[in-house]
Amino acid sequence: MPLEAGLLEILACPACHAPLKETDTELVCTANGTDCGLAYPVRDGIPVLLVDEARRPA
Ligand SMILES: [Zn+2]
Repeated sequence: MPLEAGLLEILACPACHAPLKETDTELVCTANGTDCGLAYPVRDGIPVLLVDEARRPA
């Protein structure tokens, strides 16, 4: 289920404040040149922007 229009634009990675990009099941940090790149789960259409809940990049 896509997020509400406009919501993605105001969301930022809580770890590094880079913009997020939506995938099928996650919001992925788009930071370049850093080691962030965390992927945040979307549960029942609600993004869980918690570093503790984020998936680390492989
Ligand atoms: Zn980040």
